[in-house]
Amino acid sequence: MSQTPPFDPTDPVALAQALIRCPSVTPDEGGALALLESVLAAEGYAVHRPVFGEPGTADVENLYARIGMESPVFVIAGHTDVVPIGDAAAWTRDPFSGEIADGALHGRGACDMKGGLAAMIAAALRYRRDNPDAKGSIAFLITGDEEGPAVNGTVKLLDWAHRRGERFDHCLLGEPTNPAAMSDMIKIGRRGSLTGKLTVNGRQGHVGYPHLADNPIRGMVRLLAALDAAPLDAGTEHFDPSNLEVTTLDVGNPATNVVPAQAKAVFNIRFNDVWTPQTLAAEIERRLREAAGNTVRYEIAFQPTNAVAFLTQPGPFVAMVGDAVEAQTGRRPALSTTGGTSDARFIKSYCPVVEYGPVGKTMHQVNEEVALADLVALEAITHRLLTTYFAATAQA
Ligand SMILES: [Zn+2]
Repeated sequence: MSQTPPFDPTDPVALAQALIRCPSVTPDEGGALALLESVLAAEGYAVHRPVFGEPGTADVENLYARIGMESPVFVIAGHTDVVPIGDAAAWTRDPFSGEIADGALHGRGACDMKGGLAAMIAAALRYRRDNPDAKGSIAFLITGDEEGPAVNGTVKLLDWAHRRGERFDHCLLGEPTNPAAMSDMIKIGRRGSLTGKLTVNGRQGHVGYPHLADNPIRGMVRLLAALDAAPLDAGTEHFDPSNLEVTTLDVGNPATNVVPAQAKAVFNIRFNDVWTPQTLAAEIERRLREAAGNTVRYEIAFQPTNAVAFLTQPGPFVAMVGDAVEAQTGRRPALSTTGGTSDARFIKSYCPVVEYGPVGKTMHQVNEEVALADLVALEAITHRLLTTYFAATAQA
């Protein structure tokens, strides 16, 4: 297994290309973690490959590696799994060939997130090669279950590491955070996500005899209007206002002369740090109760969620990441909490976490790609960050 790869892993493009050639669609490891194990072990890292599983989910391989015995421990986190390719015929190039053309590296995972992970690993290796006696430690938390259910990945890997006595000081997660250019955006938090399923019950009947029926659509319209009537909040210093979207509304009634018996709707709320899933569910229940009065018969159920809103307060570490990006690109990136959820929501319980990575324009798309220049820039930014980080702690 541990054979030295035929390329220099401090070259971010070569390492990203080798990773893309591993077909690691969740939950398959695809050779990606084996590759990283051989790369990291050859550079002196202690590498572990814990496999996690639980009933009803596929077993998933993960990787934890560390070099150094002292604190501070700087963690680089990421995932090697990728989303499926979809229609293979729609791709211009083989999605697992890692072709280089037109100044870009092509293939599934190029920007989400084999490119980011490779650039950060390359930087960490180069930093330790040049500073073998550096104080402090570098650790890697890498999962194969981020794009799937995210049950047997980072959440369990963090718990596993914690039980082994591992303690982390700061974490950089290399998800694609930049909308268009490498100087655009650092993510210092994420919104939470809550899904509700609403059912309104009526009584089926003939449309010509409405007094004998009770149309649930009328009640559903009233309840959904109540959920939509007033903003959930006005936003906070670092977050946009929370937002509720009705994602489906189903009656399934093919007849034009029948009042249906039941109407169902599903909504999803992306919420900020004003709320927890519990307080938000209570507010939704209050609005529904008020709108329903004693005329609308309904049921509301919330899906269990582990996606809470969190914020890494801007401070010295966030500033250090911003400085490294600005020094490389000439522009200060914005601090943002936009977008979907990420594994940062688990890491934040162990140490402050900041997300910064490649331009995400083509993530999860056909013909996914990452610019070679962006990989080179990300390697340089990470190297700069590690240098400042460990220099700062050596003085402290
Ligand atoms: Zn990702």
